[in-house]
Amino acid sequence: MDVSSGDTVTAVNLANDCVAGVATRKTSFHAPKVVNCAGAWSGQIAPYAFPTRPVKGQMLCLASPSRGLLKHVVRSPEVYLIPRSDGRILVGTTVEEAGFDKRTDVATIQRLHRAAVAMVPELRNAKILQDWAGLRPGTPDALPILGPTPTPGYYVATGHFRDGILLAPITAQVMAEIIEGNNPDYDLVPFSPARFSKWQAAGQL
Ligand SMILES: Cc1cc2nc3c(=O)[nH]c(=O)nc-3n(C[C@H](O)[C@H](O)[C@H](O)COP(=O)(O)OP(=O)(O)OC[C@H]3O[C@@H](n4cnc5c(N)ncnc54)[C@H](O)[C@@H]3O)c2cc1C
Repeated sequence: MDVSSGDTVTAVNLANDCVAGVATRKTSFHAPKVVNCAGAWSGQIAPYAFPTRPVKGQMLCLASPSRGLLKHVVRSPEVYLIPRSDGRILVGTTVEEAGFDKRTDVATIQRLHRAAVAMVPELRNAKILQDWAGLRPGTPDALPILGPTPTPGYYVATGHFRDGILLAPITAQVMAEIIEGNNPDYDLVPFSPARFSKWQAAGQL
């Protein structure tokens, strides 16, 4: 297996209208099958502008003041808390249309912290260990985009929005079946790339 770590795919290479591999900033790879799983960035790789967009989520991580303070996930309308076995508590999250901006801002992190304390007052003096933001891959109809593209050998698996961790195993399973030419046990029509007819009409998908 060849890996080009930290590299960026710049284009899908075609030969006779079929996939031939990918070009990256550092190198290029020959491959008869290519899967675009670039999350919120999926639409940036030629030749197809898949309609994914970034939906930002800010989170923070607290050090639990006592072992066993939380035994399971708890949530309120404003916030959810995820206890980790190492004593960390993850506090999430925002859902922001903020473009490709992965910065956190102090006011938002403080608001999440206050909401966590309102739900579990013992967290008032909990140390903030870390904050960060991620970009979820959103789509126009909030459903994933899974399956073959009009270009033979080129597939897409993106748009999992808020559920991509949960759906990773089943996505891997159905994509492997599609790529091997088998019929998955699930009806994937609602997730077909072809449903975005205006992108198709524009010659993009
Ligand atoms: C704060 C937050 C909390 C979340 N909580 C949950 C949760 O509890 N449960 C859950 O199921 N989901 C959760 N999600 C959603 C989940 O993280 C996403 O749905 C999931 O990460 C999408 O996976 P992906 O592999 O499609 O995209 P990503 O995880 O975004 O991975 C895409 C990768 O492609 C790379 N890439 C982009 N462009 C290129 C390129 N041109 N060349 C090469 N590489 C490229 C990116 O750098 C990235 O590493 C959360 C998301 C956030 C932000």
